[in-house]
Order: sequence, then structure tokens, then C-alpha cells
Amino acid sequence: MTEWIDLRSDTVTQPGAAMREAMMTAVVGDDVYGEDPTVIALEAETARLLGKQAGLFIASGTQSNLVALLTHCQRGDEYIAGGTAHTYWYEAGGAASLGGIQPQTLPFENDGTLDLDRIEALIKPDDVHFAKTRLLCFENTQAGSPAQADYFERARSLATKHGLAIHLDGARLFNACVATGCSAADYGRHCDSVSICLSKGLGAPVGSVLVGTHSFIKQARRWRKMVGGGMRQAGILAAAGLYALEHHIDRLGDDHAHAELIAKAASSRYPGKVSHRTNMIFVDIDKTEMAQLIERMAAAQIRVRGPRWVTHLDISADDANRVSEVLRSG
Ligand SMILES: *Cc1c(COP(=O)(O)O)cnc(C)c1O
Repeated sequence: MTEWIDLRSDTVTQPGAAMREAMMTAVVGDDVYGEDPTVIALEAETARLLGKQAGLFIASGTQSNLVALLTHCQRGDEYIAGGTAHTYWYEAGGAASLGGIQPQTLPFENDGTLDLDRIEALIKPDDVHFAKTRLLCFENTQAGSPAQADYFERARSLATKHGLAIHLDGARLFNACVATGCSAADYGRHCDSVSICLSKGLGAPVGSVLVGTHSFIKQARRWRKMVGGGMRQAGILAAAGLYALEHHIDRLGDDHAHAELIAKAASSRYPGKVSHRTNMIFVDIDKTEMAQLIERMAAAQIRVRGPRWVTHLDISADDANRVSEVLRSG
């Protein structure tokens, strides 16, 4: 029987045999006591890759962004983010609900960046009428679009001019690195904090890492404890993350190539309706047509959910070809 091909998200990957072996043999300790050598190694390695002083292993990207916002901002402060940014749109309103931190949004540009002049116009002057603008929040990749490091250099100048901090939600930052040729540190140097996901394209079962200065991470560690994120023998999970950083970054280029292949086939079926960015394919067809397509794909044991399809570690070149054939035969 043919295996299902799951294009719903890059979160669906299964840990492979070598990753499970690394988890099984991990040396662990109580991480709330700071005694888990594998967690410590993962935090240090992520910080090194991003050119930052320290890291903090966190259960999810949502918790990592929340902890970052709680660390940067006080009650009554404001952060500026994209209108569909994960931190604002997809995190259950955590920053506002738990931190009393007000979001100020603006739409993302087509390339996934935020227009810096529009951001500047939204920064509040020091006036009792206004919340205190404190933080700029970016996303890279944003809906698959990778931004170049020089964009963040310009964002840094703007932030410095207004005394603001920068947090980068880099859930898929390594996809951006592979697409642009910029290193993770090229991005990291312009940001005060960066959150990366281990459980997306990198293929680990669980986890994110937040990086920043020693003093930022020290405060973030307290916030993580407060939101219930202090984990004990978490090295079992961190071992998967370390394995992913070592083995699954360079191969992200394969995911991008597979997405391109599938996008080409989809465009031949739906001309002008398909776009492709890093590991994501967007199919912009009407609801009825999409429902028919989802059904046709399911009949061929290909799982898609809506307009966004995502390639990942468990989609091989053969799988990408099989998806393309189904699309072309429709
Ligand atoms: C997935 C994702 C996160 C974190 O999601 P979790 O499921 O909580 O790990 C954060 N930001 C972006 C842009 C994401 O895609």
C-alpha cells in the first residue's frame, strides 16, 4: 500500500531512526536546576549559530515568542507586528492577555517584510495619551518569503533611532538562510532576540530555542518558569534538536526544490494561480475548485488542507514527482 504524502505542514515530520537513537542515548539531568548537559549544549549551539551570547530551550514557538515579548515589554507597552504575524494572529492573544502588552499591527508587504516608513509612522511619541512603543517584531520566513539580512540592518537603524528593541520570530529562519545565502548570524546580529523552531523544517518532534544576551536570557528563564515551561529531563527532547541542527539545515534546499517542482505542476493545471516561496506552495483557486482538488489529491493518498502546501523532511523527490503527476493528470 502506498504511504500518504502529507503536505499540510512541515510540523508533521516523524523523527527518524538516527534522531531517535540520539534521544535514547542522551545524557540528561534536571534542567530547572540547570543540570541537563544536553539542553545546555543545544542552547549553546543555537546561540553560536545565531551569534548570540545565550539560548533558552522552550517547549514551543508560541511559548518562545510569548516569553520574548514578556521579557522585552512591561504592562502598557506596545509591540509593532504584521497583521497576520504569528505573534499577533496565531498565539491566542498571549502577549495582550498574559502580559498586558498592546499590539500595533500593519499589513505585511508582498515580500513578507514590514515597510519601515510605515512602522516609523506608527511609533508613538512620549505622550500620556499613548502606549509606550517598545518592540518591533519581525518574521522570517514570512509565509515562506525569505528576507535578506540587509533589511534587518535597516530595521536596526530605525529601532536604534527610536530606542526600540527587535525580536525576530525565526520559526523558519534556516529556510531563509538556505534561500538567501545569509547566515543565521547575519540575521542575528541586527536583532536583540531571535526564536527558532526545531519542530518545523528541521524535523525535531518538539521545541524552540530563544537566543539573546546573557541578561535577556536570564530574565527570559524566569518568565519561562512562570508560564509553566520549566522542564526537567528535557535533554531527551534537546537531543533531537541538536541532531536536527547538525543534520537537517543544509538539506532544507531539497524541500525548496520539491516545492518548486510541485508548484510547476500545479501552475500547469491552474495557470496564474500558483506561487512558490522556499518550502511553501500557495494555490489561489476558489473554494469549490479547492474542495474538488483536495478530494482528488486524497484519492491519490495526498493530504492537503487548503491553499498552503508545505514540503518537508518526509517528502522525498519521488513523493514530489507523485504529487506532480496527480496535478498534471487532473
Ligand atoms: C509555527 C510557527 C511558530 C510557533 O508555533 P508552535 O506551533 O507554537 O511551535 C511561530 N511563528 C511562526 C511564523 C510559525 O510558523
